[in-house]
Amino acid sequence: MGQLRSNIFRAGLEALYFSGAHHLLRPLFAGVGTIFMLHHVRPARGGPFQPNRHLEITPEFLRATLAHVRELDIDIITLSEMHARMRARDFTRRFACFTFDDGYRDNRDFALPVMRDYAAPFTVYVTSDFAAGTGRLWWVALERLIERADVLEVPVNGQPTRIACAGAGAKRDAFATMIGWLGSMPSDVEVNRTVSDLCRRHGIDDSGIARELCMSWQELQTFGNDPLVTIGAHTVSHCNVAKCTSDVAEREIAESRSAIEAKLDRPALHFAYPYGDRGAAAARDFAIVRKLGFQTAVTTRPGMLFAENAEHMTALPRLSLNGNYQDKRLLQVLTSGAATAMWNGFRRVDAA
Ligand SMILES: [Zn+2]
Repeated sequence: MGQLRSNIFRAGLEALYFSGAHHLLRPLFAGVGTIFMLHHVRPARGGPFQPNRHLEITPEFLRATLAHVRELDIDIITLSEMHARMRARDFTRRFACFTFDDGYRDNRDFALPVMRDYAAPFTVYVTSDFAAGTGRLWWVALERLIERADVLEVPVNGQPTRIACAGAGAKRDAFATMIGWLGSMPSDVEVNRTVSDLCRRHGIDDSGIARELCMSWQELQTFGNDPLVTIGAHTVSHCNVAKCTSDVAEREIAESRSAIEAKLDRPALHFAYPYGDRGAAAARDFAIVRKLGFQTAVTTRPGMLFAENAEHMTALPRLSLNGNYQDKRLLQVLTSGAATAMWNGFRRVDAA
């Protein structure tokens, strides 16, 4: 999300909260359920430059969210139970699912204890290469790179370009510029190569980040045996599947599932599209995942679940627990569905 759009979204959330409009909108837009989307759960870090902060919440905010959901008497269920209720059109009780992307070790160390306190099941979507310790978390590498550098020299669109990154403001701008440029590249291969080259030139070791932050296959064996935990698939290399050819997209998705079956000896029935927005998961990809036989697949498109989503179980929206909005007052606005309805221009289902 761009900073401007992010600020408008926050202003909208606060306007909804202070006007009480979310109470009026609740019957129309709360839907039948919600899939919460999380990434890291860990204590807040210090320092002014945290461009990936939207990807982490504190254990305390997770606890507040679970308390809020329990207070609303909403069932917290597994994705397979959600799938069964959607198929059966069983909407007698509202429900929520909790999902965590990428397979971070802090999900075990900080999220699991909180989830246990609320007897809340959850799904962690594992990227095979991260579990193997070989994948590249280029957005973390980019943060570390810009944190340390005073200037980056990059060939933007073939033109040698110097990007200033001295000082917190310049670092934020540099990160946004780099994200814009990397996002325009044809695939993750170029993105990873560009960030790795820069890391090498600036003495940053990006090869150890997956091992540092993500659970290994061995750790996932123990973690996955917890009765609250479901392991889902998230591609082999954390690629933008919409930018892959059909063959590569299918292989990335299918092999991430077979890796889980082989390494963890369990089926993987659920999938999450990396990045997951409109440019990273589209109709072709929803069809591939359906053809491969997954029960559900989630995007990062914001939205609540409605009965109509039962027709689009491989293109499900989620509700982000975003590190930039860790305000307990705003939880009731988020769970009312008013915020995502506003975001979606008051369309209920967006699965095209
Ligand atoms: Zn991811």
